[in-house]
Amino acid sequence: MPKPQKIIVDLENRALQITWHDQHVSIYDFTALRRACPCAECQPWKEGIGEWGKSPEKVLRAVGELGAVSDVTPVGGYAIQFHWQDGHTFGIYDWDYLRELCPCADCTAQSQ
Ligand SMILES: [Zn+2]
Ligand SMILES: [Zn+2]
Repeated sequence: MPKPQKIIVDLENRALQITWHDQHVSIYDFTALRRACPCAECQPWKEGIGEWGKSPEKVLRAVGELGAVSDVTPVGGYAIQFHWQDGHTFGIYDWDYLRELCPCADCTAQSQ
């Protein structure tokens, strides 16, 4: 399992930066993370059945401050949990999942 060496939560720029054990750096946008929420409730959206698949902007407006975070808490040393300002807190993002989500060019190329 990948392990983070350093985690920076940048509330102002709505970004999460993780420096991994292997020195790889991942920078995530809060909105992208919110959409990738791994909980069962958000699953239809990830699969494109939910409305985000069709019109992200529409849903962005509908839930208001989507992607805004009021708090980020560690979960048992293997994950972090976001407290989104839309009230949603179910998603627990473990290191494996976060590494998988890394939006950098290298990781995107690898996952294809
Ligand atoms: Zn969720
Ligand atoms: Zn990457």
